[in-house]
Amino acid sequence: MSQLIGNIYIVVAPSGAGKTSLVAALLQAEPSVELSVSYSTRAARKGEVDGKHYHFVDRSVFDAMVERGDFLEHAEVYGNCYGTSAPWIRSRLEAGQDILLEIDWQGAEQVRAVFSDAIGIFIAPPSIEELERRLRGRDTDTEEVILRRLASARAEIDKIDEYDYIVVNDDFERAKLDLISIVRAQRLKSGPQRRRLADMFRRMGTAGAK
Ligand code: 5GP
Repeated sequence: MSQLIGNIYIVVAPSGAGKTSLVAALLQAEPSVELSVSYSTRAARKGEVDGKHYHFVDRSVFDAMVERGDFLEHAEVYGNCYGTSAPWIRSRLEAGQDILLEIDWQGAEQVRAVFSDAIGIFIAPPSIEELERRLRGRDTDTEEVILRRLASARAEIDKIDEYDYIVVNDDFERAKLDLISIVRAQRLKSGPQRRRLADMFRRMGTAGAK
């Protein structure tokens, strides 16, 4: 793989931590970051659009894609299969695009094994009690599913040392600013900035473009 100019952000969070809303707010504030649209075998929820929220496919199509090596990573989450398109990721990275993957912890591990520079961000709830309150407030899950999600949340938080950044979603606006700050700081890092600004430094007649 050639040297990457674009960044890969991997955002992981326990179910109910507010990941989807935070990522949506980040993408609105930073339109240059593009969201990877995953493939999924789960049924579309009300309001979800095929090709926008997910590429909804049935199990046989998904399995054929796994066989062909079409996924950069894939995993089973709560009984459904999810995967990230490898060709899409490669083409966007080669174009120098920043991309964001909203995936689970298993996928995050697989992506990091391929792209060691990928930036892992974990969104944590302020407490397990608050997570439980939010899961119950959604009113979409059975008791069994809620308990399973809480157990998974604890297991995911146990692996928190695998991430570069941790954002606590206590106050939504603050968590959103934290996410935006991560993207901006990353973009200002010396190595990628020198490559982006090579012409500017050249015009200054300096060696900054090295
Ligand atoms: P949901 O079905 O609620 O949209 O997503 C369930 C879980 O699957 C979430 O944790 C979500 O981040 C994760 N997920 C979504 N797309 C992918 C993907 O492409 N790969 C992996 N590994 N997980 C995904």
